[in-house]
Amino acid sequence: MPLVRYRKVAILGYRSVGKTSLAHQFVEGEFLEGYDPTVENTYSKTVTVGKDEFHLHLVDTAGQDEYSILPYSLIIGVHGYVLVYSVTSLHSFQIIKSLYQKLHEGHGKTRLPVVLVGNKADLSPDREVQAIEGKKLAESWGATFMESSARENQLTQEIFIRVIQEIARVENSYGPD
Ligand code: GDP
Repeated sequence: MPLVRYRKVAILGYRSVGKTSLAHQFVEGEFLEGYDPTVENTYSKTVTVGKDEFHLHLVDTAGQDEYSILPYSLIIGVHGYVLVYSVTSLHSFQIIKSLYQKLHEGHGKTRLPVVLVGNKADLSPDREVQAIEGKKLAESWGATFMESSARENQLTQEIFIRVIQEIARVENSYGPD
């Protein structure tokens, strides 16, 4: 019998970078046109990674800016994070840096399971952030980096598989519970 594990993952980033679109594409398999600002939404999906099954509970947040104070509900009981910026917005990339610092402090500066995502890669001509910058930032945290497109369903499944793998990697580096 495969083991079913519960994993809670929060999707964070500046508004309008595509957090809801990525979650929706992952869970429902479709891209929704138009912008409907999220208050906070949750999604659930069972995912198989290797031999194990995971019950993934996604928290799609309203979006943060440089002044946001992260509530405890986004720290306590959250196993991993998907931090999203848009490759077309340098501002959204800068927000990610301050968000990571807040998460890192909130978790007592332990190593965090994080996947850094540069979304809207289909809008490459309007790029303000190069892939190498995202890669370097993720490397500085020991995290995974990906560029995605919720619109073209590029790497949307992989993001959430990777965050599950990151959680396992960080857990294993501290030894079994
Ligand atoms: P959120 O506020 O971060 O949850 O962002 P949304 O998912 O609501 O998306 C904001 C806007 O960007 C919407 O108009 C989406 O249709 C659009 N959008 C989201 N992801 C992509 C993408 O990968 N490519 C393009 N071209 N547009 C996207």
